[in-house]
Amino acid sequence: MAETYDVIIIGAGIMGCSTAFQLAQRGMRVAVLEKDIIGAGSTGESSAIIRQHYSNELTARMALYSLRVFQNFREQVGGASGFTRTGFLALTDADDREGLEANVALQRRVGIQTEILSPEALKELMPGLDTAGLVAAAYEPESGYADPNLTVNSYARAARDLGVDIYTDTPVTGVRFQGERVVGVDSSKGAFDAPRVLNSAGPWGAQVAKMAGVEVPINACRVQVGFFRRPVTEPEEHPVVADFINATYFRSETGNLTLVGLIDPGEAESIVDPDRYKKGVDDEFIMDAGSRLVERYPSLEQSQVTGGYASLYAITPDWHPIVDELIPGSGFYICAGFSGHGFKLGPAVGVMAAEMLLGVQDYQFDPQLFRLGRYEEGKPVQGLYEYSIVG
Ligand SMILES: Cc1cc2nc3c(=O)[nH]c(=O)nc-3n(C[C@H](O)[C@H](O)[C@H](O)COP(=O)(O)OP(=O)(O)OC[C@H]3O[C@@H](n4cnc5c(N)ncnc54)[C@H](O)[C@@H]3O)c2cc1C
Repeated sequence: MAETYDVIIIGAGIMGCSTAFQLAQRGMRVAVLEKDIIGAGSTGESSAIIRQHYSNELTARMALYSLRVFQNFREQVGGASGFTRTGFLALTDADDREGLEANVALQRRVGIQTEILSPEALKELMPGLDTAGLVAAAYEPESGYADPNLTVNSYARAARDLGVDIYTDTPVTGVRFQGERVVGVDSSKGAFDAPRVLNSAGPWGAQVAKMAGVEVPINACRVQVGFFRRPVTEPEEHPVVADFINATYFRSETGNLTLVGLIDPGEAESIVDPDRYKKGVDDEFIMDAGSRLVERYPSLEQSQVTGGYASLYAITPDWHPIVDELIPGSGFYICAGFSGHGFKLGPAVGVMAAEMLLGVQDYQFDPQLFRLGRYEEGKPVQGLYEYSIVG
């Protein structure tokens, strides 16, 4: 006899675990099936930057809601998230000044604590930075970064405490339908039954959708991060920086390290097989990221390379997720394609996906913006002003 649940969730990343937690809080009997271990996908390898600098109202509201959860994680979820408040800076040049101001105004309207800093004020905040070429910066004093493995495991533990069954090492191999309705999934551990199934398989989202015969535009794309050990003369921590001029982001990491990645729409072209790609970092990436870092932050010139790795973004055509019932009326849903900026939204996405699965009328975060049909309709998600892939 197959185990029977109200909802089966495929994938134990931040989205799957946060959704399971929210559903269990609303009294649902939930199973999460994960092919590997908790956080094995993008989540466990996320840079986990928590910023609220978004260019549309919904994502800005979701980022703010989620920040409040990270700030009060023990009370609201339980366990640790490793949230570290360092502040966040978005740096732009003259061309993007107006856009930066418009975005900051939007963010302030939804209650985000953020302000525009002049290059002089920026220099005072982060003396090691080179402010040449900068016209303005947005500053969020409340932002920072978290520990993605701690966070996802805390969500998983909290969900389990509420009765959720999490099966690791359990790949889903098929989605079963009776007529138009989903009735469960097949897995390496046999069949599981449920009238609702959520595909939160991140970079594997398209693969899992295909099990139900649906094509979704989500590509698994290889992205890299590098680590540099800061000279001991530098402070133990520095703000998170999104440098839209040099197309890099960087944040401090324990052990006097600075983690660097790219903010580069070109990353959408490095499509790979999510089960077979080079996990090691490329020497060229380290050279390139290192020189962009030092250009912006010259006092790191004497830092040492300590390595890096490659992981996966689940990228959609507009760099926004697909959160929808994949086949209308079927009970087969998706919440995937977070395109390199989903971790920080995880707490709010859990609420959004849980409400979608429960069919509530009055959404806290309406998933309509993220419907699959927007691509065919020619209405991709567009921010107020997107200097790059700000989301
Ligand atoms: C290098 C890097 C840096 C990033 N930096 C940031 C950042 O600074 N801030 C931010 O907000 N976001 C960041 N992101 C993005 C963020 O990490 C992701 O958007 C988020 O983690 C996606 O979570 P998910 O749950 O959708 O997917 P995942 O974490 O990938 O989870 C999907 C899970 O599904 C499982 N799965 C797949 N197929 C099956 C199957 N058939 N059966 C069962 N299980 C299956 C996988 O094993 C996996 O565990 C970064 C991502 C990367 C890779």
